[in-house]
Amino acid sequence: MANQNEKVVEKRELIILGSGPAGLAAALYAARADLDPLVLTGMILHGQAGATDIIENYPGFPEGISGPELGQLFQTQAERFGAVVEMDQAINVDLSKTPFVVETFGKKFEAKSLIITTGATHRKLNVPGEKAFAGRGVSYCGTCDGWFFKGKEIVVVGGGDSALEEGLFLTRFANSVTVIHRRDELRAGAILQNRAFSNPKMKFIWDTVVKEIMGDDTVQSVKLENVKTGEVTIHNTDGVFIFIGHDPNTDMFKGQLELDELGYVLIDKYMETTVPGVFAAGEVADPNFRQVITSAGMGAAAAIQATRYLEELEETN
Ligand code: NAP
Repeated sequence: MANQNEKVVEKRELIILGSGPAGLAAALYAARADLDPLVLTGMILHGQAGATDIIENYPGFPEGISGPELGQLFQTQAERFGAVVEMDQAINVDLSKTPFVVETFGKKFEAKSLIITTGATHRKLNVPGEKAFAGRGVSYCGTCDGWFFKGKEIVVVGGGDSALEEGLFLTRFANSVTVIHRRDELRAGAILQNRAFSNPKMKFIWDTVVKEIMGDDTVQSVKLENVKTGEVTIHNTDGVFIFIGHDPNTDMFKGQLELDELGYVLIDKYMETTVPGVFAAGEVADPNFRQVITSAGMGAAAAIQATRYLEELEETN
């Protein structure tokens, strides 16, 4: 007799894990190839791009477009051709044999082919107070939490594009946004640097790292250390926004796919992983470019190659 707790297995040609630009571009191309792709969105609908205030470098939108709007447009276009987008998250995969098995909390799927676009997650500082004050002054998303800091003082940690872009966004709400960077030179691109340096609400503390986040109910200050002089100071602040890069979401694939030394999925120029029939696209496999356009391009390429793979599979059988 079948175990009542056993999940019913849904069979699919192609499953796409993730719903950022790579996943939804893959869904569009796969849907137009009549593969009836299923997209399991993951916890964050439309990925990191979906939580971006404004995207100014995706061609076709000369005035820029908000991340949530662009994400929804990607989704609507893929759905128009038959892609199914399910708000669900893969928690387990078995890539050791075909069809591949994908499990979510409530469902079990078998798929002849997979496209992994699980993206990357913001990195943590790993200092005392960071976890305790998460959601009480510590944040990793200006677009999500900026509103709560109207008229307040904020620090932003990091020196890359994200730190400046989010910092500039936060100046809409905060009295001041102080960027704390561990070097004396920013990693961010020139346009963002110019905007940040000419914004009167933006301030900079150089050569400095955050050692601790402190407060009572909410954040009140950060303990800083100058990496050149060793001087330790206390800087009062109402919020700490952390933008120090990302780590790929590949835990589920460890031991099943070859990953590089930073944990990114290794792919060839056809987006093929080390397991035939499993493709990867976007930031999960790209530590270099990490742009909406490059991720979308990789997603489209992965879907084209998955289509070829499935056609060949059909011919062989
Ligand atoms: P990123 O470019 O890797 O920058 C991370 C920043 O955090 C660096 O300045 C780094 O310092 C600092 N950092 C790293 N670990 C740290 C630690 N433990 N403590 C203190 N500081 C630390 O990451 P990102 O800014 O998130 O950008 C990711 C990618 O997305 C990039 O390719 C970027 O170009 C792209 N992006 C583009 C846009 C845009 O085009 N508008 C917007 C956002 C992101 P160091 O500089 O010393 O290494």
